[in-house]
Amino acid sequence: MSKKVYNFGAGPAMLPIPVMEQIQREYLDYNNMGVSVVEISHRSKEFDKLLGETDELFRELVALPKNYKILYMHGGAQMQFSAVPMNILGLKPAKKAIYIESGNFAKVAHQEASRYGEIEILASSKETNFDRIPDFDPSDINPEASYFYITSNNTVMGTRWNKIPQTGEVPLVADATSEILSRKLDFSQFGLIFAGTQKNLGPSGLAMTIIREDLLGKAMSETPKLLNYQQCEKDHSLTNTPNTFAIYVIRLVLEWLKGKGGVEAIEKINIQKSNILYDLIDKTSFYLGHSQPEHRSTMNVTFNLANGDLLETFLKEALAEGFYALKGHRAVGGARASIYNAMPIEGVQALADFMKHFEQKNG
Ligand SMILES: *Cc1c(COP(=O)(O)O)cnc(C)c1O
Repeated sequence: MSKKVYNFGAGPAMLPIPVMEQIQREYLDYNNMGVSVVEISHRSKEFDKLLGETDELFRELVALPKNYKILYMHGGAQMQFSAVPMNILGLKPAKKAIYIESGNFAKVAHQEASRYGEIEILASSKETNFDRIPDFDPSDINPEASYFYITSNNTVMGTRWNKIPQTGEVPLVADATSEILSRKLDFSQFGLIFAGTQKNLGPSGLAMTIIREDLLGKAMSETPKLLNYQQCEKDHSLTNTPNTFAIYVIRLVLEWLKGKGGVEAIEKINIQKSNILYDLIDKTSFYLGHSQPEHRSTMNVTFNLANGDLLETFLKEALAEGFYALKGHRAVGGARASIYNAMPIEGVQALADFMKHFEQKNG
């Protein structure tokens, strides 16, 4: 590599460099076995150990209460859009669920869930192109609902639930794909949290689902075996062959995070990182932030250029300077800097310097 590149892609996203180096070092010979981690049985004692260690590390990092189970499931985050209703919509006879529409993934999730029962959209911020987390009155939560669904960080829009809603007896479900392990969260507030693995955990294709054990066992009878949470729990996620490589990388990422001081330490860095960009955006009218300040994400910083004609040049020059994948999602346009846990503060600082320089030249 001739020049340093910082990867601001939204997902699959950058992994910590030391993790990728370790993968490279031990790829041909895992644990002195003389074979690669990708060619050992998922039923071997070595893989069993790896899986157990991954669970333990995750539990430790988020201080997971004992009554929560960790599942590794196929199909990334969006397979959970189906798995969630299939498994827990039947918690109550009415088969109703409440969804908050805070962005495009929230929309896809409620559309998918509506195949299985009655879905109520209690609040939406569609009117303002999802620049905020929509407000709702907690007294409007139907206690007959089986669950209450949020997208805790909206990757495309750059918004985050900075205050986790109180939903009383109705279990709170969160898609935390783009923010898991980025801030301290009290998992006991949730009935279920899931995250596709390709943003803060490892490679794509899997989801980690963390579920309170009393929500297990209510799946609809037509739920595919491989999407059934209780089955998955019973088999320790080995009902069939999982993506063993992804689980191996997740373990390395969790070890790396622990070495960094854990979630609390990375949260401080994430706040610093995002503040570098938000401060810059707030101080100028050259760049326009998309998300409302009180709903800003620390993981996905979305902005446009006041003069939209400059966007192409901005992205082209950024790429030439080593700032990769800054193009915003088509739903918002503009630019997006995804600055997940693995992005070092130097990368964000370098981007901010580039942005200031670009403004001086073109402002
Ligand atoms: C990336 C993302 C998804 C989609 O993940 P897939 O693994 O591609 O299904 C869903 N929800 C959120 C919040 C995301 O950031």
